Amino acid sequence: MNEQILNELRGIVEESRIFTKKKDLYSFSFDASFGEYLPEVVLQPQSKEEISKIIMIANTYQIPVYPRGSATSLSGGPLPTMGGMVLDMSQYPKTLVIDKENMLAIATPSVITSSIHENAEKEGLFYPPDPSSSHVSTIGGNILENSSGPKGLKYGTTKEYVIGLEMVTPTGEIVRTGGKTVKNVTGFDLTRLIVGSEGLLGVITEVTLRLIPKPAHKMTLLASFQSVVDSGRAITNILSSGVLPAAMELMDKYCIEAVEHYQPSGLPLDAEAIVIIEVDGHMASVNEEIDKCSRICSAFPGSKVKVAKTEEDRMKIWKARKMVSPAITQLGPTKISEDATVPRSKIPDMIEKLHSIRNKYQLNLVVFGHAGDGNLHPNIITDKRNIEEMKKAELAVGEIFQAAIDLGGTLSGEHGIGILKAPYMRGELGVTLDLMKKIKEAWDPNNIMNPGKMFPQKGQTKVVLTQNE
Ligand SMILES: Cc1cc2nc3c(=O)[nH]c(=O)nc-3n(C[C@H](O)[C@H](O)[C@H](O)COP(=O)(O)OP(=O)(O)OC[C@H]3O[C@@H](n4cnc5c(N)ncnc54)[C@H](O)[C@@H]3O)c2cc1C
Repeated sequence: MNEQILNELRGIVEESRIFTKKKDLYSFSFDASFGEYLPEVVLQPQSKEEISKIIMIANTYQIPVYPRGSATSLSGGPLPTMGGMVLDMSQYPKTLVIDKENMLAIATPSVITSSIHENAEKEGLFYPPDPSSSHVSTIGGNILENSSGPKGLKYGTTKEYVIGLEMVTPTGEIVRTGGKTVKNVTGFDLTRLIVGSEGLLGVITEVTLRLIPKPAHKMTLLASFQSVVDSGRAITNILSSGVLPAAMELMDKYCIEAVEHYQPSGLPLDAEAIVIIEVDGHMASVNEEIDKCSRICSAFPGSKVKVAKTEEDRMKIWKARKMVSPAITQLGPTKISEDATVPRSKIPDMIEKLHSIRNKYQLNLVVFGHAGDGNLHPNIITDKRNIEEMKKAELAVGEIFQAAIDLGGTLSGEHGIGILKAPYMRGELGVTLDLMKKIKEAWDPNNIMNPGKMFPQKGQTKVVLTQNE
């Protein structure tokens, strides 16, 4: 980037918040996925006015702008694939107001999601979206990826809670969408369009979130099954019985083995799959619903059900579930974490397909995830230095995406498209992709906001995990 442009940027952002040295730029060259891309400059803006002026400069000189939260994206969302500027939004001033009377949280995008959970709960309120990364990811990143977690089944994803946004548009205007009311049908619902737009439609500077009352009670059970198909059927039977659990998490036998090997947690090593089910609400209904779930799971031959009797038992079950990620990380240095999602009734088919992909490519592929909403997490554990195995992983990942689409599902339930899944967008969306491109072109005529993401680039036909080897 030439000195003249840098001098213009120095006139907007204080010098100590501008980074151009290579040693500093490296810290902003990666996220939690694959590939490293050096930006030309990193800026840490401190106000929406600063962002607006930066964006205007970016338009004048046609410089790519890459907003970045905590960079925990698993799809390459904040990677500066075309150089240009990184806007480090993790250092934006952090403010969080819990408005108890209106049951709202108003936050700047740099606020860490778990602090919204904690502060809402202090007021007897609840912000349900709960990605596993909530202790490190920002609410801004969560909104732009429309993140969610186990509680998505009953409570929905981030988009169900975002009712207002303040944003700097790709042409530098400061605008507001939505507001503080839960009901709002005035004009197009731009708030919903921006949620999940992966930083392609502007830079978020403030968010208004809807909160709900905190559920009074919860109960958890762990059911083990002798076949994965049975575990899938149990999930469907529970949902069609009229019970809507707060979470239904599935782990296949390879995850169970990994957890027991890493930190013995009392999981049944003789099971093909386990399902963890949590129900919440008033005490009477919680008791009735956990009994019902228990009876449905017990009806399958060879299944076993353990209901947590104490809070300690409950926490132990959830600790075992949370152990999956660190446990499988021990199996190899590189973890390819996918989030292909299928209609609930197709969960058994998808798991069978995943296990056949595992056998076909002889890869260490394990499956866990939020089975209640069809959002599975097939993870391939490999070593990125082993190019031959990475090539097999690329093919396997492509087959996973295709399987999800063939079963009537979607490429991504949580992690977004970024660069990794872009080549498959046409396969899922067909001509609808062109409609999305038109929206992008109308909002961002110079294509400065997060270019290179979501839409397949020329010649991009399959997932590439080895470009930097
Ligand atoms: C261990 C681990 C566990 C995870 N678990 C889950 C999970 O359970 N569920 C889930 O959904 N995801 C999960 N993720 C993925 C990731 O944490 C989420 O996508 C998260 O929302 C990203 O937040 P971030 O602050 O790190 O954003 P980043 O990764 O920095 O950015 C994400 C996207 O948002 C854009 N962006 C960030 N801030 C702004 C802003 N202010 N304005 C405009 N655009 C912006 C970026 O350009 C990028 O496209 C996990 C990741 C890891 C590493």
